[in-house]
Amino acid sequence: MEVYVLRLGHRPERDRRISTHVALTARALGAKGIYFDREDSSVFESVRDVVERWGGDFFIEAVSWKKLLREFDGLKVHLTMYGRPLPEKIEDIKRARRVLIVVGAEKVPPEVYEMCDMNVSIGTQPHSEVAALAVFLDRVIGKTFEIEFPDGKIRVIPSEREKIVETRD
Ligand code: SAM
Repeated sequence: MEVYVLRLGHRPERDRRISTHVALTARALGAKGIYFDREDSSVFESVRDVVERWGGDFFIEAVSWKKLLREFDGLKVHLTMYGRPLPEKIEDIKRARRVLIVVGAEKVPPEVYEMCDMNVSIGTQPHSEVAALAVFLDRVIGKTFEIEFPDGKIRVIPSEREKIVETRD
């Protein structure tokens, strides 16, 4: 399964840190790339810098969100606390070949609820786009502890107490 993320409503003046975390979480838990509905060179550069050093071919790019939702060839899943619980939908989602996950920042435009195939909740309490995305990817891709980035210049060697990092050029 190929999983992509659409980050909607990013506000450069207040969302840089959390949008960067959304992108890094998407990469680390197995998504192929992330789309933003606006350019933000500060976020894009820091994510590309992580990809350059830590490996993989994760992409980050700006698109027209309406065009993406109209044209995406696959299942479009909007994460919202108002949606149906993930366990109810997970088998249908796992059958899809390509999935686009939509996460908001500010209130998402009402059309998103219509344009997506599913509105899915990760619990019915308000929390965070990072938490919602992480739970979704862990449940749906299920490779959080197996994903490897063999071409990375930096690699962490898991350790009980030490910080062991292997680097190569
Ligand atoms: N105040 C915004 C609103 O009323 O839509 C929500 C902001 S919330 C911090 C940002 C994003 O986190 C939401 O757009 C949604 O994608 C995700 N999110 C937060 N809680 C969620 C939940 N319980 N289930 C699924 N997604 C959630």
